[in-house]
Amino acid sequence: MREHFESIVGIQAALDNPNDLLAYSYDASGREGKARIVLFPSTEEHIRKILTYANRTNIPVVPRGLGTNALGQVVPENAIVIDMARFDRTHTVNLKEGWVHVDAGVVVSDLQHILEKHDYTLPVTPQSITSTTIGALLATNQLDRRSHKNGRIKEHVLSIEIIDGTGKHFVDGNKEFIGMEGCGAIILRAKIQIYPRPKKLTSTQKTYDDVTSLLAAVDEYAQDLTILSLEYINPTLAKGLGMQAKHTLLIEYASEKGELVNEEQQQAIWDARARAWDVAAENGYPYIEDCQATGEQLYDIISWCDEIDIPLAGHIGLGILHPFFEKQEPQDFYHLLESIGAEASGQFGYGLVKKRYVSDHMKSKLIKLKDEYDYNDIINRGKIHDYV
Ligand SMILES: Cc1cc2nc3c(=O)[nH]c(=O)nc-3n(C[C@H](O)[C@H](O)[C@H](O)COP(=O)(O)OP(=O)(O)OC[C@H]3O[C@@H](n4cnc5c(N)ncnc54)[C@H](O)[C@@H]3O)c2cc1C
Repeated sequence: MREHFESIVGIQAALDNPNDLLAYSYDASGREGKARIVLFPSTEEHIRKILTYANRTNIPVVPRGLGTNALGQVVPENAIVIDMARFDRTHTVNLKEGWVHVDAGVVVSDLQHILEKHDYTLPVTPQSITSTTIGALLATNQLDRRSHKNGRIKEHVLSIEIIDGTGKHFVDGNKEFIGMEGCGAIILRAKIQIYPRPKKLTSTQKTYDDVTSLLAAVDEYAQDLTILSLEYINPTLAKGLGMQAKHTLLIEYASEKGELVNEEQQQAIWDARARAWDVAAENGYPYIEDCQATGEQLYDIISWCDEIDIPLAGHIGLGILHPFFEKQEPQDFYHLLESIGAEASGQFGYGLVKKRYVSDHMKSKLIKLKDEYDYNDIINRGKIHDYV
């Protein structure tokens, strides 16, 4: 197999020694699989030939960015791993029309640095900006705190160029593969809208004594269309961050409504929010979880975390909450979500870890995509849902 692939991608771009295979056999989920070979293609023709081979031999393929997801999304199960690192070019930055054309292997922070020099920004800059590739940004349809107003990355993508599971190369104007965790196609590059960095922002920090008054305030803020970010920190986490141990909302306005006008004061509260994970980890809760809920479900999840002193933060305006745990895959939390009918994923996706909680809607989307573009189930086989 190695010789075959060396003839396609070159001698330096095909790894199969045991140490390299081990390095690519897991991701940040802690789950471990088995990589057959690791390839670093640098052209679409390389990828097309790899997929032709994979279809002929019925060997699955896993497209991989930096492998930092915590859901087993790139754990190979006897698969060929395609590391997209050599798709590393930013082709065009068009400030006049407000878009960039960028390869899937580019790290998001590298692109953002280029844009910031022009006082522009990507529409979504995840907190994990230095460890997220453009391919993963799109494959998991990422969001950030300003998605409260701006929406997820998909809403800002003009088109993506892909190679599907059968080896067909095309521009996906319908953006069908965004948010599908790499199932069915490998993303090569994309045209994404960019924006001038927002100015004249103001912020406010509010505290609440109980969950009912917190959620009433969230409902009220939801009506205000000038709010860019609406973020929540629970009392346990607030205490760890050196704030009052109360239910806390951080609100960012694209208007003059916020009480904090001074840039440094505003930065201080947003820096505190960004430290949530580090502080939770320092206090013995290093594993972040993810869910999406509405109304009563939000009440139940927040109250549950309060009762057992679990640090919790989230994009509450979007119904997305991130509790932190001592151990990975907290089954009692998953059972809680199942029992109240909340979604087991709001932001990070499903991968292998949350497969059993995938919604019927997501399952049928995956089946439709595989039927049309990857009927031999080559790309990311077994992820999200078993296609058979
Ligand atoms: C500290 C931290 C903070 C985070 N903050 C945020 C946040 O603010 N917002 C947010 O939305 N997420 C956030 N996340 C989730 C995180 O962004 C992703 O898990 C991670 O960015 C994945 O990037 P990666 O390049 O390592 O992708 P990988 O882990 O390598 O891959 C992730 C998925 O993308 C697919 N994929 C990657 N490249 C391609 C490609 N070219 N074609 C097709 N599929 C591809 C893979 O198959 C896999 O399904 C955070 C994670 C951490 C650890």
